[in-house]
Amino acid sequence: MNTTTESKTTTFLNYINGEWVASDTGQTEVSKNPAIKGEVVGSYQLSSSNDFNDAATSARIAQKAWRKLAGSVRGDYLLKAASILEERIDDIAATMTREMGKTFAEAKGETARGVAILRYYAGEGMRSVGDVIPSTDSEALLFTTRVPVGVVGVITPWNFPVAIPLWKMAPALIYGNTVVIKPASETAITCAKVINCLHDAGFPAGVINMVTGSGAKIGTEMVNHREIDAITFTGSNTVGKQLAHSAVTRGIKYQLEMGGKNPVIVASDADLDLAVDATISGGLKSTGQKCTATSRVIVQKEVYDRFKEKLLEKVAEITVGDGLESGTWMGPCASEGQLNTVLSYIEKGKEEGATLLFGGNRVLENKGYYVEPTVFESTSPDLTIVREEIFGPVLALLKVDTLEEALELANDSEYGLSASIFTTNIGNMLSFINEMDAGLMRINAESAGVELQAPFGGMKQSSSHSREQGRAAIEFFTSIKTVFIK
Ligand code: NAD
Repeated sequence: MNTTTESKTTTFLNYINGEWVASDTGQTEVSKNPAIKGEVVGSYQLSSSNDFNDAATSARIAQKAWRKLAGSVRGDYLLKAASILEERIDDIAATMTREMGKTFAEAKGETARGVAILRYYAGEGMRSVGDVIPSTDSEALLFTTRVPVGVVGVITPWNFPVAIPLWKMAPALIYGNTVVIKPASETAITCAKVINCLHDAGFPAGVINMVTGSGAKIGTEMVNHREIDAITFTGSNTVGKQLAHSAVTRGIKYQLEMGGKNPVIVASDADLDLAVDATISGGLKSTGQKCTATSRVIVQKEVYDRFKEKLLEKVAEITVGDGLESGTWMGPCASEGQLNTVLSYIEKGKEEGATLLFGGNRVLENKGYYVEPTVFESTSPDLTIVREEIFGPVLALLKVDTLEEALELANDSEYGLSASIFTTNIGNMLSFINEMDAGLMRINAESAGVELQAPFGGMKQSSSHSREQGRAAIEFFTSIKTVFIK
């Protein structure tokens, strides 16, 4: 990877038309380690409209030849990239931990997921893309096929800096699109290292491009650029909706994956130890910075006290620290801004009358942006900590009398991404499956687990009602052609 080194800090470049290039602004910004105040991970380019234009133009030119390749040939590039990413797993995972704080074990798991995503989509190059449909004319052939959308703009958040870029880029590429990615600035260097794996796999120039910099600037440029045919975005609701407005104005395809306020229901017949472990893992791993993280814990009154006691016992065992140190279970918040948001929600929880059962404080203040795992008992479903996405290690417990009440409360949210229930009763499971408004339904499993070969996405305000990952990705990254031959 072509980089420059200034006073011990490596500067990462944009990747345009198969080459690593500096922005024409001549400006860079540093990516900082949230675990160690003042530690710089590296610098990335603060790009201009010209840089983006170069990337989009080269993606357009490259798409002509790329779409003509056989799917299996495109798949071979993805397979090569998967092997290279696998060889570099330790370096890329450590970079991720240093940029956004999740523990090294989690970062390594995510990078391995990236390898699996590339391999999964390589196989898609050999699978069917259409149907033969019986025509009313017995001498005609009526069928569907699929074609790529064109040049896809990819905008990604910092919380899954390897998996999300790859679960967008891999399907885009296998179906014959070319891409320009703008990663989150917080994790621009992790993304550059992933792009370097794709570069070393030998993808033709222009098929993949990366431009780093301000979301407002490059993101706006992307959605309004004439060479961009579709936008796939993961991030906050505010930004997602702005992008959707612009995409509709231009009449281009768009796909949004956004926030969540994911509930776990613990029924009176639940395996409580299982429910406690899954609530902790689903709610507090990655410092609660997952769109599918558990944040509302709705428990039936018969088991509420026992569940609470067991939960608090286990939360007290959580070790907070630098994700690169062995023994750390929970790393810091991803940035100072993120820490301040979490602390302000904790204050709001206290002010509005929720009972703080555990945590709530900043820790290791001199070292980095750390906060304790925090558990509230909520007396009302209307508190801000029960309604808004916090994106931090904060759980709110709510007590209910019946399962019906639990489902009603679980659905009382503008979001509908993921939901879990812990129960051993088949009737409860069926009510949950039928009545819960969420794209990801988890029974006796944490809210935050997803498998790459299955559709991923939410209902209500959590998504644009499309689905990513698995075979479902074909819907966004291709257009259907209906063909009639006589
Ligand atoms: P964000 O919306 O601030 O940023 C996401 C991306 O958009 C970044 O690359 C950012 O630079 C870019 N951006 C910022 N302003 C922009 C603008 N005006 N125009 C275009 N692009 C712009 O979100 P974040 O803080 O990085 O991520 C956290 C959010 O992402 C949470 O709400 C979380 O729930 C959500 N998220 C959702 C999923 C999912 O699959 N549903 C997965 C992960 C994260």
